[in-house]
Amino acid sequence: MSRFRSEKFDGLEPYTPGEQPQDMVYTKLNTNENPFPPCPAAVTAASQAAKSLMLYPDPDSTALVKKLSEVYGVRPSQVIVNNGSDETLYFAFLAFCDEAHPAVFADLTYGFYPVFASITGAPYTEIPLEEDFTLDVSKYCGVNKTVFLANPNAPTGIPVPLGGIEEILKTNPNNVVVVDEAYVDFGAESAVKLVDRYENLLVVQTFSKSRSFAGGRLGFGIGSEALIADLNAIQYSTNPYNINRMTAAAGVAILENEEYTRHNCRAIMENRAYTVEALQELGFTCTPSKANFIFVKSDAIGGKELYLELKKRGVLIRHFEKPRIKDYNRITIGSREQMHTLLTAVKEILEEIG
Ligand code: PMP
Repeated sequence: MSRFRSEKFDGLEPYTPGEQPQDMVYTKLNTNENPFPPCPAAVTAASQAAKSLMLYPDPDSTALVKKLSEVYGVRPSQVIVNNGSDETLYFAFLAFCDEAHPAVFADLTYGFYPVFASITGAPYTEIPLEEDFTLDVSKYCGVNKTVFLANPNAPTGIPVPLGGIEEILKTNPNNVVVVDEAYVDFGAESAVKLVDRYENLLVVQTFSKSRSFAGGRLGFGIGSEALIADLNAIQYSTNPYNINRMTAAAGVAILENEEYTRHNCRAIMENRAYTVEALQELGFTCTPSKANFIFVKSDAIGGKELYLELKKRGVLIRHFEKPRIKDYNRITIGSREQMHTLLTAVKEILEEIG
């Protein structure tokens, strides 16, 4: 830290992204990326757009917003696109949280929420998940705070049914409820269909997971026109050109090829079922995940130990130090071949310690 840094950042603990080691080629199952490449039309569109990189991009990303509005059945004025959904979430903390509207989220959820709260100066409280990591909706009803809810949740993969989301929306009419649907395309139900009924609902999604586009950095928000206008005001006050030309062009191409996305999501869901079954046979407990990752623990080996043993064998998974979940690991669901590699290594480790 330099001696010039503002004191307002003294308590800031930056988010720790999953490791991206460069020392060897790993079977990377630690950052919930999609194992399949982006659709070929997106690659072509991005390289075509690269020829115009001497020009700034369209700050409204008009074509992309229009295409998203068609795919999700809303008006273009109900959509904002961002540099990853992390940016949408950051803008939501800036726009909708303050002393009068503190933030609230689960104790075990996306690790960026407390960081965004901290950097935006938003007071926040955490509500513990239940023993089995499910979320008790009643604890959010009438909380009178800006709610951030990852659905399905991370790192557990457990979804809240839409009826529960609706309860939270109804009982907090004076606060925004942000539903972070980064993983919704892997088997959960989206709240987008509720945006015309609840002016306080903001749904946030990303191209990073189901659409194989984490490196392109493209996220979006869908909500009432007024909420989207608030977020646009923040965008125009920070980074009007937040979506570069290549990403915008690729995004449109991805949306024109929805069958490609759906096909890959189906493959990942099949691989998830296959992996859960195989791990359960090896004595693991797995939460009922509807995401492209699973959250697992074994009584035979500690979470950290398993993570380190797998890393030695070239397989990367994610371990969190938080006391409540230190026995667990989060494993991204990849291709069938990657899951074979994981399972072979897990068997080897269990035999060695057994
Ligand atoms: N929400 C959740 C729950 C996530 O796990 C992630 C991925 N780290 C994000 C949002 C952000 O994803 P991105 O910025 O790549 O869209």
